[in-house]
Amino acid sequence: MSALVVSVCSPVRRRSRQRSRDPYIERLQAGSKLPSRDRRGGERRWRLTSRHAALTRRAASIRGGRVLMASIEIRQFGCRSDNFGVLVHDKDTGTTIAIDAPEEQPILDALEATGWTLTHILTTHHHGDHVEANEALKARFQVEIIGPAKERDRIPGIDRTASGGDTLDVGGIRVEAIDTPGHTLGEVSYYMPDAKALFAADALFSLGCGRLFEGDAAMMWDSLQRLRALPDDTMLYCGHEYTATNARCAIDIDPQNLALQERVKEVEHLRVEGKPTLPVSLGREKKTNPFLRADDPELKAAMGMEDAQPAEVFAAIRKKRDGY
Ligand SMILES: [Zn+2]
Repeated sequence: MSALVVSVCSPVRRRSRQRSRDPYIERLQAGSKLPSRDRRGGERRWRLTSRHAALTRRAASIRGGRVLMASIEIRQFGCRSDNFGVLVHDKDTGTTIAIDAPEEQPILDALEATGWTLTHILTTHHHGDHVEANEALKARFQVEIIGPAKERDRIPGIDRTASGGDTLDVGGIRVEAIDTPGHTLGEVSYYMPDAKALFAADALFSLGCGRLFEGDAAMMWDSLQRLRALPDDTMLYCGHEYTATNARCAIDIDPQNLALQERVKEVEHLRVEGKPTLPVSLGREKKTNPFLRADDPELKAAMGMEDAQPAEVFAAIRKKRDGY
């Protein structure tokens, strides 16, 4: 599976909620080089130079306290047979967070490729394919391991706990913990508003959701409604590459859904090319993932369950998916 790097630049809000939409500033923050000289003409050089100076002044005033800009980069890579590893890096602070630790070597390879030093691990739940490398990485690096409070006794090397509703400062990156039980009873998903990224591990997959090993359908439906409440432009990262199988089930349930038809074609294309199907925007998932639409009259009709409660519809979708 090929690695994916997504650069995200956004302000860490201090006093102002104003967000820069200037693409030039965003490129600057993303590390793009500004032209130091323009070989084609003096006027253009002057404009760029002035622009750069204005930006420099603006950046200084921002650092002066009004808005602190953060530059966050996310790298996704394959681990084990179908797990994802993810690193979140803040260029300004050097903070590097691993989302779960499925396998040591691919994480070490990603750190070496980027030159980043691991500082934190955010654990979502206790399953072995999400915590296997916790202790090995802790032995190599000065990492702080943060994991769900309800599973603290089952998370190797845990230093700090997180529960739904907590806003955590993880090496300067703001992280909101969201309780998402169902797959396990204590699973926590992590949302980074300044990176517009959601790490939902085995609670929510693209076009699917986690198997109900410890919780029930009503519990998982509640969990997924909490994730569904996040903004459409949030990018969803998951624990596994299960999208192709999920897509077959989803299109069987909801064959008339045009957004889903489009996503299914895209998923087929990506998998043929050996590329990951994630991340994906939460907005697209809200239109295509049957598990996020258990209360949608069109999906209920497609299931032949117009009068059923959403949790019952959700349970029926989960049962159908278990057969794939
Ligand atoms: Zn799991």
